[in-house]
Amino acid sequence: MKKMTEEIKSREKKKTTVGRSSENTESEKKELALKVIELLKEEYPDADCTLDYNEAWKLLVSVRLAAQCTDERVNAIVPALYEKFPSVEALSKAPVEEIEEIVKPCGLGHSKARDISACMKMLMEKYGGNVPDDFDALLSLPGVGRKSANLIMGDVFGKPAIVTDTHCIRLVNRIGLVDGIKEPKKVEMALWKIIPPEEGNDFCHRLVMHGRAVCTARTKPYCDRCCLKDICEKNGI
Ligand code: SF4
Repeated sequence: MKKMTEEIKSREKKKTTVGRSSENTESEKKELALKVIELLKEEYPDADCTLDYNEAWKLLVSVRLAAQCTDERVNAIVPALYEKFPSVEALSKAPVEEIEEIVKPCGLGHSKARDISACMKMLMEKYGGNVPDDFDALLSLPGVGRKSANLIMGDVFGKPAIVTDTHCIRLVNRIGLVDGIKEPKKVEMALWKIIPPEEGNDFCHRLVMHGRAVCTARTKPYCDRCCLKDICEKNGI
């Protein structure tokens, strides 16, 4: 009888531990996330977007041009565009071919020019030439996906944002903040659960900096000189 009671207790204990361990996984990830955030803050005190802009609509344009293109190239191309079309209104009235002629060095010139034109037209028609500070409204603009909408929310309006670009997705998987998730929206949703909202935007900028400088995609990552080496799970390395 005593043996049977001990067995039941042991089974109950196992069940409790399993339950706790799945909860712990998320709480451990939250704890890990806070450490990563702090270490990246020390390593990269300035967390800025590397696209140049001085008005919200220009960031919308640049972020569309940055698809499959480097930020450096976009920054080099846009001054000519803004010289010719210096406002949302001017760009909304510009022939798509003229936009394409200027932006084609960024690649995918026709579709980017078409989206920029349609986006500027919608800003004029629905938002009085302004960029809306609402995530769903941003998402409804031509050529604007979740990544871009989050970037605008965070950088322009200072609101909570998680920008899941290629660096972010690679790094959070390697570090162990998410487990084998590659689809941007799923990564974003997983990160919302473990990253304090007010930290999300700068955290993602710092992941980009770290992904370019240390935890690189094309070469083997430089784990030996990484500020996260003591806490990173180095998944997939
Ligand atoms: S320890 Fe290595 S895998 Fe982990 S973040 Fe640093 S460079 Fe990337």
